[in-house]
Amino acid sequence: MVDLDTPLKTLLGARAATLLADGLELSAVGDLLNHLPRRYHERGELTDLADLTMGETVTVQARVEKVERRPMRGSRRSMLLVTVTDGRLSLVLTFFNQTWRERDLRPGTTALFAGKVDEYRGRRQLVNPEVQLLDPEVDGDTDGEAFANALVPIYPAAAKVPSWTLARCVRLALDSLEPVPDPLPEELRRRHRLPALTEAYRLVHQPDSRADVASGRKRLSWDEALVLQVALAQRRRQTESLATTPRVARPDGLLAAFDAGLPFPLTKGQREVGAAIAADLARPVPMHRLLQGEVGSGKTVVALRAMLAVVDSGGQAVLLAPTETLASQHSRSLRDMLGNLARAGELGGDDQATRVTLVTGSLGARARRETLAAIADGSAGLVVGTHALLHEDVVFADLGLIIVDEQHRFGVEQRDALRARGRRPPHLLVMTATPIPRTVAMTVFGDLEISELTELPGGRAGVSTYVVPAAVRSWTDRMWGRIRDEVATGRQAYVVCPRIGGAGADDDQVVGQDGEDGRPVRPAATVTEMLPQLVDGELAGLRVEPLHGRLAPAQREAVMTSFADGEIDVLIATTVIEVGVNVPNATVMAVLDADRFGVSQLHQLRGRVGRGSAPGWCLLQTAVEQDAPAWQRLTAVAATSDGAELARLDLAQRREGDVLGAAQSGGRRSLKLLALLRDEELIREARVEAVRLVGDDPELAGHPALRRLLTAVLDDESAAFLEKG
Ligand code: ADP
Ligand code: MG
Repeated sequence: MVDLDTPLKTLLGARAATLLADGLELSAVGDLLNHLPRRYHERGELTDLADLTMGETVTVQARVEKVERRPMRGSRRSMLLVTVTDGRLSLVLTFFNQTWRERDLRPGTTALFAGKVDEYRGRRQLVNPEVQLLDPEVDGDTDGEAFANALVPIYPAAAKVPSWTLARCVRLALDSLEPVPDPLPEELRRRHRLPALTEAYRLVHQPDSRADVASGRKRLSWDEALVLQVALAQRRRQTESLATTPRVARPDGLLAAFDAGLPFPLTKGQREVGAAIAADLARPVPMHRLLQGEVGSGKTVVALRAMLAVVDSGGQAVLLAPTETLASQHSRSLRDMLGNLARAGELGGDDQATRVTLVTGSLGARARRETLAAIADGSAGLVVGTHALLHEDVVFADLGLIIVDEQHRFGVEQRDALRARGRRPPHLLVMTATPIPRTVAMTVFGDLEISELTELPGGRAGVSTYVVPAAVRSWTDRMWGRIRDEVATGRQAYVVCPRIGGAGADDDQVVGQDGEDGRPVRPAATVTEMLPQLVDGELAGLRVEPLHGRLAPAQREAVMTSFADGEIDVLIATTVIEVGVNVPNATVMAVLDADRFGVSQLHQLRGRVGRGSAPGWCLLQTAVEQDAPAWQRLTAVAATSDGAELARLDLAQRREGDVLGAAQSGGRRSLKLLALLRDEELIREARVEAVRLVGDDPELAGHPALRRLLTAVLDDESAAFLEKG
């Protein structure tokens, strides 16, 4: 009795099982069946040896007659001349530098050979054709017609496991497989016209047509999508079952005082999101919301108003930032916005006032003790900080709300750890400026309700973006000239480098050292090299300072403060300035070796300029050629400021693994088949089904097979994946 858990050893014997285990990490029948063909060879294109036309790409099926090895002229290597026959005619195949093929292509072997028809000294030939060995035992005696019409699965094979060996193992597995319990409920399958699991395996491994493949793959994609969405639906449900303290602002309280003093009217979006958050906060279950909004869309005000509502009701609110630079900047801007309302106990402080405290890893022992005391006795209403806040010795008097800025750097686990800091689970608001396509949001952030701020507050002049080819001297000169001009009129500038440089590992970002074709390229510009070069050259006479992640936090903070105060003209920085840094007087940014950055990252960086009333400039310098994909990417960034459009582009250019963070987890990809863009509709449908399933049967008691799959997937790969969410 063979099921998905049967060890391959039982089915195939020790030798084959070892081969599959070592070469492909496949150990059970289920692993083997989930090792899907990479593509399919169309036997339909089979061409008769009599009909070969020059220049056409063909597949021929033939038997090896003779193999000769010949030295190549002027080289120590050899070439292989393989004569194949269909029984009547023969054809010569020429393989350069592939003498290893001698092992496979012994006389008598039958195989498919695919390639372009060529002519050499009047004889037709195929040069370096693709070879698909046909297993004589299995494929040898099939009847011609059926054989020609079927698709040959081509597996991602390992060196020692050729594709046809895999095909044979799969055939054995499918032939002896008992009907397996199906994780997809029958009624769901009927609604979406999906084949049963066993059938789906047959369709993808032994298809008769492209339609079979599509139907089988769709069904298997559903498994992935549904499992993920069920996991997320369960999480949401769990959150809903928690009890917390409702937080409602007092009509004459801190929030009211703040609103009364606001120097600008809130945008429509800010009002709407604010109302949604206020409604969430007033409920006795914890809020669990994601706020998405372009850089500069005014999320901070929205966050602050939510925090003030909580303080009004006697609680405390935390604002968590991914870096110390950003945390201190946040605490500064909260204090600025609050003015007297942040000066409790100080001269000139308002009666209603509270206090903003900053907790980072670089606090001295004494300052830390005092800060923690203020947090513990509740006198600090607003607490801003980094991961350091996750430390257990941080005790809150009454933590009511956690706001996480720049979500993508915080995992679910960290969120949970923070929530455990309150007496009752606090409300949670997650903010991100990284535009996220809807499906990604639904998948990666699927356990959060989603709000968006779409319009930018008025009065922004916007940013003009240009691609600057490094090879054209006059353009590069104009780039530095633009920076000097802006500084001359009292504005400030950023120069962004992909790397820090100097000794030690770069830790501010991961920027590949390989070109798009995988070849190493020249090292990207570094802050440590550019700094002296610019100070002595293009930016001579200007006040220039470096900013990057290897500076001591206090030093970074000092640099940011002087930049914000206008005491520095130009920052030579890494992507530490990517998130949230807000200096409205900065009007120009030059990104060096801009091709080293992703689309979203560039968009994010660019958001640092044009934040005030003066127009901003973003100059993307690159050494790549104009026909390189990287150039296209940069032109696309220059052409639009629509974050959502760029997010789609970004996603289309990256592998999903990277988007989901699986690449960093080092584990296997949890999403094998789903492509977040292509499968948008499917993911949407799966979400609806998941909500229905979990609503009717939260523990999936009536769906043991689905529950089993869920546990397996979650234990395994998606644990890491969800963490990254
Ligand atoms: P985000 O955090 O979304 O990038 P911020 O909250 O930092 O954006 O806002 C960017 C700038 O816009 C800040 O200087 C802020 O004071 C200002 N701002 C926010 N809301 C408005 C508004 N409704 N009208 C005018 N300016 C606003
Ligand atoms: Mg912000």
